[in-house]
Amino acid sequence: MSSPEPAAPGVVIVGAGLAGGRTCAELRAHGYEGRVTLLGAEAVPPYDRPPLSKGAAAPTTGDLGFDFDQLQVDFRPEVTVTGLVGASRAADAALRVRIAGAGDVAAEAVVVATGATPIVPAGWSTGPTVRVLRTRTDALALGELIDVLGPRARFAVLGGSWIGLEFVSRLSAAGQAAVVIEKAAWLLPALPPEVGRQVRHWCAEGGIEVRLGLPVDTVTSAPTGVTVDTAGEQPLHVDAALVALGAAPAAGWLAETGLGMSPRSGALRVDQHLRASDPRVIGVGDAVERWSPRYRAWLPGGHWQDAMDAPAVAAQSVIAAVADAGPPTVGYDAVPYFWSEMFGHTLQWTGFLTDYHSARLVVRGDMAGGAWSVCWLDENARLHALLACDRPRDAVAARKAQAADLSGSPEVDVDALADPDRPLRTCLVASRGG
Ligand SMILES: Cc1cc2nc3c(=O)[nH]c(=O)nc-3n(C[C@H](O)[C@H](O)[C@H](O)COP(=O)(O)OP(=O)(O)OC[C@H]3O[C@@H](n4cnc5c(N)ncnc54)[C@H](O)[C@@H]3O)c2cc1C
Repeated sequence: MSSPEPAAPGVVIVGAGLAGGRTCAELRAHGYEGRVTLLGAEAVPPYDRPPLSKGAAAPTTGDLGFDFDQLQVDFRPEVTVTGLVGASRAADAALRVRIAGAGDVAAEAVVVATGATPIVPAGWSTGPTVRVLRTRTDALALGELIDVLGPRARFAVLGGSWIGLEFVSRLSAAGQAAVVIEKAAWLLPALPPEVGRQVRHWCAEGGIEVRLGLPVDTVTSAPTGVTVDTAGEQPLHVDAALVALGAAPAAGWLAETGLGMSPRSGALRVDQHLRASDPRVIGVGDAVERWSPRYRAWLPGGHWQDAMDAPAVAAQSVIAAVADAGPPTVGYDAVPYFWSEMFGHTLQWTGFLTDYHSARLVVRGDMAGGAWSVCWLDENARLHALLACDRPRDAVAARKAQAADLSGSPEVDVDALADPDRPLRTCLVASRGG
C-alpha cells in the first residue's frame, strides 16, 4: 500500500456524521496511513440520528463510538466549511477546503459527507415553539418543549412524512394531542397511497388528527402559541409546531466549484465509485445523489444504511485518488433500504420504484390487522419494491434477492407470493444473479 509523505495534506472529510465517521474508519481499515482531518459543524462527535425521532424521551445517548485518537484522525468539531477551491480545474490544481474566518485547509482528496438540513420554506421562522428535528440539539429542545408545555399542550406537525409521523407517534404514546397537516392527498406521499391510508388509520387509533390536502402558507410563533395559516381554512392555533417537510442535501457550499450537482435536489452527483466529476472529490451519505448502474438512475441519499455501507467503497476511491492510481475496482450499487418505527410497528422498505401507478400490487397478510407486506411488481412479475410491516423476514428475503439480481427486480411466483404463509424466499422463480 503506497502512502503519502507524512507532511502531505492527506484527506479532508467534511461533515462529522455517520458517513464522515465511517469513512475515517474505512480509510484506516483499508490501510491508508496518511493524514486524515475530519471537520464537523456540530460540537459533538458523530452520533446516530434515527433514535432522535423514535425515543420515548429526549435521547441523550447514541454516540457512534468512533475512537478518533486510535484512528489517528484530527477531528475538529464546530468547524463550518463554506467552500472548496481547486476542484474541477486541472488535476494538478491543489484542493483547498475553505473554513469561515479561519483560512483554508489543503487536501489531496476531499470527502463530502455533510448530510442534509431540514427544509423550512422562506418566510417561516423557527423559534422556541416552532421546531425542526435533525440534530441532537433539536431533539433535546423538543423534549424540553414537551416537558415545559405539559400534557395538555397541542402540537401541529407540518408534513406527514417519516420524521413527522414518528414524532407524532411518540406524542400519541404520551397521550399528547396533535394534528398532522399534509398538503398531499395521503400520508407518506413519497409512497403509494395504500401505505398512507394504513398509517392514517394508526393515527386515528392513536387519537391523532390528520388533515390532508391542506398546504400550509405560513407559521407564526407568538408568546401565546403558534398560528398555522393554511390555504382556504381558518387559522389553526396550537401550542407548538414541528416543521417536518423533509431534508435537502447540505451541499450548497459546493455551489461555486463547477462539480456536477443534481438539478432536482442540489445534491453532489457521484458515480458508482462515489467520485464526483473531479475524482479527487468523493461523496457519501445524504449529501449526494449516486449513479446506479443497476437501475440506470440517480438515487438520492437520505437513508442510514447508505451512510453506513457506502464509506467502505468511498475509502477505496479516496485511496485510489491520492495514489493517482486510476479508477478503483469496487463500486457501490446497493438496493435502497430504510426502516421506520411508528405506532408500535416496524416498517422496512427495500427496492426502487419509479412508477407505482402502473405497478401490480400484491399484499401479503391483512393490512387491516396484524403484520403485512406490500409488494410492487411489474407486468413480468418482477419484484421492484416491498414494504414490510412487522414482517422482517419478508424484508430480509426481498432485499437479498433484489441485491442478487442484476436489475434489482427478481422474478416471483405471484400466486405463491400472495400467500402470506409461504416464506418469501420460496416465491422466487430464478435469480439473474451477477
Ligand atoms: C430524526 C431522524 C430520524 C431518522 N430515522 C431514520 C430511520 O429510521 N431509518 C433510516 O434509514 N434513516 C433515518 N434517518 C436518516 C439517517 O439518519 C441519515 O440518512 C444519516 O444520518 C445520514 O448520515 P450523513 O453522515 O450522510 O449525514 P448527517 O448525519 O446529517 O451528518 C452530516 C454532518 O455534517 C455536518 N455539516 C453539514 N454541513 C457542514 C459544513 N458546511 N461544514 C461542516 N460540517 C457540516 C452536519 O452538522 C452533520 O453533523 C433519520 C434522520 C433523522 C434526522
